[in-house]
Parts: sequence; structure tokens; C-alpha cells
Amino acid sequence: MRRFLIMIFILFLSFVCWGTAFLFNQPTPALPATSPAPTTSLTPTATTIPPSPTATITPSPSPSPLVAVPTFTATTSPIPPSQSFTVLYHPDDMLYVGDQVSFEVVSPPGFDVKDANLQVQVDPPNGPYLGPVNFSAWGIQGRDEATLLWAWDSHDQNPGTHTLAFSVQPQGYAWTEQVTLLPSSDMPPDQTDASWASTQTQCCTVYYITNTASERDLSTLTSMIDEQARLSIEEMGSNFTQPITVTILPRLLGHGGFSSDEISVSYLDRNYAANSWAMVVHHEMIHDIDGKLGGDFRPTILVEGLAVYMAGGHYKLEPLMPRAAALQEDYLNWYIPLKTLTDDFYASQHEIGYMEGASLIEFLVKTYGWDAFSSFYRDIHINQGESQSDAINTALKVHFYTSIAQLEQDYLTALSQESDTSAWVDDVRLTVTYYDTLRRYQQLMDPSAYFRTAWLLDNKTMRERGIVADYLRHPHTPQNLALETLFITANDQVSAQQFTNASQTLEVINLVLDGIEQGTSDPFSVSTLSADYLSISSTLQQKGYEVQSIRTDESTAIVYVTNSKEPDPIELHLARSDNEWFITP
Ligand SMILES: [Zn+2]
Repeated sequence: MRRFLIMIFILFLSFVCWGTAFLFNQPTPALPATSPAPTTSLTPTATTIPPSPTATITPSPSPSPLVAVPTFTATTSPIPPSQSFTVLYHPDDMLYVGDQVSFEVVSPPGFDVKDANLQVQVDPPNGPYLGPVNFSAWGIQGRDEATLLWAWDSHDQNPGTHTLAFSVQPQGYAWTEQVTLLPSSDMPPDQTDASWASTQTQCCTVYYITNTASERDLSTLTSMIDEQARLSIEEMGSNFTQPITVTILPRLLGHGGFSSDEISVSYLDRNYAANSWAMVVHHEMIHDIDGKLGGDFRPTILVEGLAVYMAGGHYKLEPLMPRAAALQEDYLNWYIPLKTLTDDFYASQHEIGYMEGASLIEFLVKTYGWDAFSSFYRDIHINQGESQSDAINTALKVHFYTSIAQLEQDYLTALSQESDTSAWVDDVRLTVTYYDTLRRYQQLMDPSAYFRTAWLLDNKTMRERGIVADYLRHPHTPQNLALETLFITANDQVSAQQFTNASQTLEVINLVLDGIEQGTSDPFSVSTLSADYLSISSTLQQKGYEVQSIRTDESTAIVYVTNSKEPDPIELHLARSDNEWFITP
């Protein structure tokens, strides 16, 4: 049993990511669309983590125009509409003829789907069946859902509306939804032509998708990847020579990076994750090398702490101890006790967890030296029934003759002796608010991006099958663009230490999200700022531009945009007249 548990933990820790550690979602691709087939069970590795008791199931935002409101038809076991299943369609945004369409069917909260399976019939009564697949846990949240991956090959379908009949057995729940397949000729040309490509650098095999910002900036990115690999290998004292595989994603997933047996990092113009790309790469490289150096059991707090410590910060270069010191009672009073954090790392407040983990590593290295820390870190073991903090406690006793409780006391004393703490209070507070708001936005408006249930797939299989749409497409309604550019403005304000302005911008975003959540008719009207951002995003989208960043004052705006013909961002100047925005010469 112990060996089994260890294997599970090793499996768990082999999927660590920037901003969080991920378990790779790798459901077995659903069976081809034929008549009802034998049950096939999904095998996402996320089953190793039980759903957090505090986890909430994302309400179905589905602002996408492609899905009609589900219609529950009378069956043997009708369920109340408030208990409805949520269906998420992939690729996001729009569906075109030719897509390999996937479905995530999320069960209502508290609904027992153990041993249940889901099947879909396309255009009943004569259309093909997809599935059945069992309900299973998805992502590090362990959300109960049935995942039909690339189940509906739409190549031979007609454009237009199609009916999908869902049924959950053995309970007998059934409902129908309608989706629209757009003609493939409607797909933007840069998407039609997009495909996987690769290049070899000194350190790495780099995969990217053509017609994206990563292809445009490839030489800069590959130089950065080589430099970060060199630094990471040096820092970790390793001598690996086998190439690292890096996949560059054109959309934001989670906080911008993750690591499994390869590294994936998001690169996009409208990067509302507000991170330094070099640091994301550095963080993931450390995870990769750390994983290869091994260890019987590496606790999550130390794995993530080490990556942040080595990269010199989480989202940006930053001093670790002074920022962690700002969490203390006399300042923000946000400190999470070490045992609580260690035993439920990913359910804890994200930025605080990483801050404490990284500064704890710094404290350990400063106290005992790198070699002693490294020996301790690679010699942690866990027994059946033990928590991660138990495992750390035992190793601390063996290596340093101390306990986790004593370590925490010493660490807190060191934090209290930091002299620069008050200078970091605003920065830390806004960092936490920023990323809490970002995750709220993702849950409501781009659920595939939310880190605990992200639509993270097996990159290797995607390359083999030539599938790019799942990573290429993402919601880009004017509302999405307005909110993402508001995030970019808020981050610019944090970077410029305009903390009051940044707080106000984040407050505006939260008010808009409140309105969206409550279903108000015009959520962007809560402030001039949000109304302007929406108006500008919408106006420019109608002219074929996609906004990447916006700066407004009373009556003028400077906006960076891209379009499908021009790879580089273009600067546009706009002026307000009669409450509308116009491009000025
Ligand atoms: Zn990480």
C-alpha cells in the first residue's frame, strides 16, 4: 500500500506548474461516433486529489453564442432545472464544420454520479452516438464530469443547427441542447492555416502554433528559453543533456505555465496574467530539473517554493522574505499557518501559498546552506496515512534536529526581523487582489482557463492528430476583451506603484463581474472606465481589430491592436464624440 501511495504521489508531483501544480487531464479520447459502444472509462490522473470541501462548481457562464439553453425533456427521472448539468463545448468561442468537438458535462453540485455514464446522440433519432463515458474527476479541483474528448468529428456535418441529446445512465436523466456549426469557410484565414511547428534550440525542442504571436516572436522566445535553461541547470547543479520539450500555447491557461513531462507556457499579446515570460519559463525549467533530480516524496509547498525561490519571484522579480513578512499580523494579517498550507496547498490562497513556500526555502537555505537543504529535500518520505506536514516533520528531525513547529517559530522570528516590510504591503495586497479577481474572471467568462479545471490536454497527442483549435480559440467577445484589457491597465498601475489607481481599476472589474454574475442588463455601465473599454473593444472589433491594451483619459484613447493581416501590434488613437469612440488620423 505504501508503494502504491508513493507512486500516486510521484505521479501527482510529476505534473507541477507555474502558478500552480497541475495534474494533466488526459481522458481517453471518446469512441468514434458509432452506435452505442461498450462503456469506456476516463483516466484523468486527478483522482489522486479529492475535491476540496470548499470547492465550488463553476456556474455555467457559457456566454458563447453557440449553445442554446438546455431543454430538459421528461424522462423516467426528471431533475429540477436548478439541478441541471452544465455542458462546456470545445473548442471555445465558435464551432466550425471540421472541428473535433469535445464536451465536458459537469454534474450538478452534490449530485451522485458515481458509476453513472453519459452518452450523446447527434441529431436524433438517426444520428450517431458518442460515448458512453463514465463520470470522473477533472483537474486538480476533481470536478465531477463526463468528458468526451474530440468525440464528435464534424467533418461530414452540414453547417447550421444540430441537436444533441444527452442521457445519463443508469439514472435516466435526459435533455437536449442545440449547437450551431459555422461553415468552415467562415473560419478566419489565420486559424484555417494554423498548424503545429517546431524548432530545435540549444536546450530544447520548442513546439508552437503558426500564425500566432509566438511564431512572430520566435527568435526572441527561443533565445529566452535557452538563457533560462542555462540559468536553471546552473542553479540546480544538474548536468542533464537530454533536450527539454517546451510547448508555447497561444491562449492563457491558468496563470500561464505548467509542467508535466514537458513544459507548456502561454505567450500572447493580451497577457492579462501579468507575468514575466522569462520567469514563467524559468519556473517551469526548475520543475522539470527538480523532477529529474527526484526524491522519494517532494511536498508540494517545497516543490512550488523551490521554483519561485530559484526564479527570484513568482510573477515578477521580488524580494521573498520582505514580501512574506507583509503577511504577518501587524501588516496584512494574511499569514497561513505552515501545517494548514502544507496539507492543502492548492486550496489555499494561491499567491500567499507561493510567497510563504518560496520564503521558507530561502530561510532554510540561509540557515542550513544549500547542500544540507538539498540533502533534506531529496530525503523526504511519506507513509500511509501521513500528511505532507508529517513527512516534512520527520525529515526535519533527521536532518536538522528540529520540528515543523520549531521551524515555523524560527521562520516567523526571521520574518518579524525584516526591516523593509511596510514598503511591500501595498504590492502584496494588490498582487493577491489582482489574481483573485483574475481567477474570478476566468471562472465566469473563460472557464476553460481556470487553473483548477483548465482545459489542459495532452500536447503530444494534439500534435500527432494535428489539433490546434483547443488552444487557438478562446472567448473573445467585446466583454472578454474589455475585461482583459482592464486587467492589463491594472497591472500597469501596480508596476508604476500607482496603488490607489490599481485598486480602483480592480474594483471596477469586480463590479462588472458582480453585474455579470447577477445577470444585470448592462454590467459595464457601472463606471465610465468599464463602459469606455467595452465601447472601444466593440468598435474596433467591428472594424476587424482585436484590442490588446487600452489607455483612456477624458476624451482620447491610445489603443494597441492586432489584426489578421498585420502580425505586429499597431498603435491607434481614438477620440470620444457624443459618447462614441472614433479612430483619429
Ligand atoms: Zn509551479
